[in-house]
Amino acid sequence: MTLLLGSDIFRGSGYGPGHPLNIPRVWPVIDICRAQGWLPNINFEVVPPATVEELGCFHTKAYIYALLDAERYQVLDKKRSKRHKIGTHSNPIYPEIYRRPATAAKASLKAAHYLISGVHNSVFNPSGGTHHGLPDAANGFCFVNDPAIALTTLYKNTNNKIAYIDIDAHHPDGVQAHFSHLQRMILFSIHEEDRWPRTGKKGDKGGGNAHNYPLPRGSNDTDLNETITNDILPLLTDYGPDFIVLQAGADGLEEDPQSGLCYSNHGYWSAVSAFLDLKIPILVLGGGGYNPFTTARAWAGVWGLMIGKNPHNTECVPESRSVLESLHFPHRLGRNIPERWVSRLYDRN
Ligand SMILES: [Zn+2]
Repeated sequence: MTLLLGSDIFRGSGYGPGHPLNIPRVWPVIDICRAQGWLPNINFEVVPPATVEELGCFHTKAYIYALLDAERYQVLDKKRSKRHKIGTHSNPIYPEIYRRPATAAKASLKAAHYLISGVHNSVFNPSGGTHHGLPDAANGFCFVNDPAIALTTLYKNTNNKIAYIDIDAHHPDGVQAHFSHLQRMILFSIHEEDRWPRTGKKGDKGGGNAHNYPLPRGSNDTDLNETITNDILPLLTDYGPDFIVLQAGADGLEEDPQSGLCYSNHGYWSAVSAFLDLKIPILVLGGGGYNPFTTARAWAGVWGLMIGKNPHNTECVPESRSVLESLHFPHRLGRNIPERWVSRLYDRN
């Protein structure tokens, strides 16, 4: 069956004023999917935060305790702050700094176990995809590396082959560094060339099993999907993975303020469909996405695809429109909201 994992921790918590992630991302997806009639209770599960032990499959105990202390005291001593990069401009201390990323991680962990047991063969964790996180430090808005926790779980509990695919605008440096040398693992990333963290250059194989496809600024739906069809799918099908983890960051969409890529959500959904269509047990994660309107519509559409709906022609029911109209977007792009950002899921006629 197909499952969406979430929690109310994502309602009303944020990274603090001025941070690009201080926008609603997870709950609008859930509320829109419910409003559209796409998310019966049977397909939805609430998850708690991961425990220290669970996070410890990838992160150091010292780092996890630093996150717990930062949440408890809302401040961290200088030495630990410097070592773990907690309390910086990118990785600020906020009230739910442990519980929020730990909940996203628990969802990815649970999803991995569901794929292994076969209870579910298709799981969506829109709160996941924080692919920059490091074992001992926060990195690029990511406190906990939930894709790494999913991959570790799949790797250690099976003898199967695993593919990690990442279509976020940013290169998954935290994932590549720790998994690209492993025998039963293949990694693919399509990201914007010369954008932070500036890793994942063309021809970079990481530890041997990574395949990187940097696209120049301005790349569009055709560029994205030709890379998948011509470069990734032949290698992926030849490899024959038993599990896929797909990081479906939505920051490559044209109206996202954090990248220069120009995908429409049609091209983005076609990319996601290319991997769903393989019918291999799959965990789909969120990731980047810094325009709450484009991100909510893109990820609601991803869930639609996962349950066999067609987001390419889906209009918003009045309740979905209300969800979108309630979103706050302090960026200048949020000053004049186009009608299509609230009236329908798809970008183009
Ligand atoms: Zn990103």
